[in-house]
Amino acid sequence: MRLITLDLDDTLMACGEVDYGAAKQQFGEYTAPRSDASVSEAIEVLNRIEKSKVAEHGLAKERVPQSFIDAYYALANAPTSDGVRHVREIGESIFKTEDEYAERGLMDGAEQLLETLHNEPFDLHLITAGDPRVQQRKINGLQLEQYFDDTHIVPMDTKEETITDLLHHTGHDSTHAYHIGNSLQSDVRAALEADANAVHIQTHQWREVENAEYYQTHERVMMYESIADLVDDSPDRFLSHQLA
Ligand SMILES: [Mg+2]
Repeated sequence: MRLITLDLDDTLMACGEVDYGAAKQQFGEYTAPRSDASVSEAIEVLNRIEKSKVAEHGLAKERVPQSFIDAYYALANAPTSDGVRHVREIGESIFKTEDEYAERGLMDGAEQLLETLHNEPFDLHLITAGDPRVQQRKINGLQLEQYFDDTHIVPMDTKEETITDLLHHTGHDSTHAYHIGNSLQSDVRAALEADANAVHIQTHQWREVENAEYYQTHERVMMYESIADLVDDSPDRFLSHQLA
């Protein structure tokens, strides 16, 4: 038996570009003409405010529309209540309904990967950081519970604790444990800190990690451009490595 843990956002389901990226672009296009900033400068202001809100409040979804409103006030030459309402709605549009997540579906190759892992004798766990109300909608909409022994919605930067706890409870050796995720900061770093291996899926990064090269060249890190690449490559590399 081996422990395999998987990230959700931008690993199993597209999220950063389609949700956050699109909303930030809309914000920039609405706010820039009402300010002295260009579209990209307006988005930069929003990113800076959003980053400080995440540092202060974590991943609760209410922070997002508030970041949009704060950025609008910081930028607009003559803020109006209609403007506030409009940018709040753009911020809120990032969070979809269960049906909308269901319709979006999984990344290419993700269903095949989950089927494969589910049919092997692995302990398989989902570990996702975010607002529990939103992440549960994704889990339900994508019908992910059928594949996993358990799903864990955790606060930002605590995945290593979850992996460590799972290793402790299941009795697996960390050298045979793998965490699969797209973020160097949230996923790869967490796996290495838990003494496990990491499979880095090189899709959208929403924040930087310090010393990225350390993680990218680490001997316990395997890299794939996408989940589809990982599926194409296994069993030659990933699964054979797992089953050996
Ligand atoms: Mg992710």
